[in-house]
Amino acid sequence: MTDPSDIQADFATVFGSRPTFVVRAPGRVNLIGEHTDYNDGFVFPAAIDYDVRIAGRPRDDGVVRLWSALFHRRAQFALGTRRRSRRNGWSNYVRGVGVILASEDYPLRGMDAIVTGTVPLSSGLSSSAALEVASCLAFEAAGEFSIEPKRRALLSQRAEREFVGVQCGIMDQFISALGQANHALMIDTRSLDYQPVPLPSSGVSIVISNTNKQRGLVDSAYNERRAQCEEGVRRLVKALPGIRALRDVTLADLEAHGALLDPVVLRRCRHVVSENERVLESVEALRSGDLGRFGRLMNRSHGSLRDDYEVSCLELDAMVEAARAVDGVYGARMTGAGFGGCTVSLVADEAVGRFKQSVGEEYLRKTGREATFYVCRASAGAERLL
Ligand code: ADP
Ligand code: MG
Repeated sequence: MTDPSDIQADFATVFGSRPTFVVRAPGRVNLIGEHTDYNDGFVFPAAIDYDVRIAGRPRDDGVVRLWSALFHRRAQFALGTRRRSRRNGWSNYVRGVGVILASEDYPLRGMDAIVTGTVPLSSGLSSSAALEVASCLAFEAAGEFSIEPKRRALLSQRAEREFVGVQCGIMDQFISALGQANHALMIDTRSLDYQPVPLPSSGVSIVISNTNKQRGLVDSAYNERRAQCEEGVRRLVKALPGIRALRDVTLADLEAHGALLDPVVLRRCRHVVSENERVLESVEALRSGDLGRFGRLMNRSHGSLRDDYEVSCLELDAMVEAARAVDGVYGARMTGAGFGGCTVSLVADEAVGRFKQSVGEEYLRKTGREATFYVCRASAGAERLL
């Protein structure tokens, strides 16, 4: 998947010359650590071998001309404009990165660029972060400057928050910018320190199963969960004056002081606190090569998201149950915000064929919906290919 020649040929067809650079930035899957990021907690994503690619060539007139190979549309803007496009929503991610980089005084140049990619859109694999990080690399290549990867992630996140208008956390851009082949990254969302943790380089696949259920409800439920976590901290701080976020609370703390909390808020807090512990345990499990233990932690994560955090749904539960019934599956859980979207399963390579067959059939039987599968490997983060 690192052959840049196809996109070079496409560029030549659209713009009539050869590109001077090709960049890629991957999508991601979160293996464990869900709804922990806005509680200053831990997440554990891997970059996947589905990516967004941009091939380009600098221009001297400060104009950015884009061609989307997916949408078959052109978009064009002058550096320095802060206008959003209504007709070409996809171009706003590129515009946004340009606006943020300009505000930080990077020496931007215009460019002709073709945008393409294999990350499924709006399926929870974060194609938007991949597009932002790829756009950042494209501006770097065109302007011949270079940004350190962690900063690239932060600037890309700002583009999504301040220009596109989605209040995302840092995980997606971070893992797209800093992912490593055959590794997941344990990221501390408070300090932004991270640890690469090796995944087996052969023998096991990450299988993402799309429920193809639109993630309805997600905004209101997300805001409600955030508010409940904040309420938990506000009440617990009376007994635990040192805490700033649920990140600072232990399960023993919750047992001792749970009476301060409304029962629903207590369950929300218990998910976040236990999920943080599961992330740290997962790192240990993988470091000692214990996939069985890691799989059990994934399973427990799903149970906690379903029962304590209540962000699962019939489709996600059906997919996870069907996955666990397959011989050769270490563990399965919902991934992403919930109420639809995808599950992630750790599957022995030899079982991937029957996984798709059997989970597809069982999921259809239970829900009347077709599942889509993406078989992934943990891949390198964003890079320049040409
Ligand atoms: P997600 O990040 O979960 O995939 P989003 O709704 O945040 O979903 O972002 C999806 C949007 O990102 C798409 O609708 C499109 O505008 C843009 N996008 C992502 N990848 C590409 C691509 N390869 N080409 C053009 N636009 C893309
Ligand atoms: Mg997105």
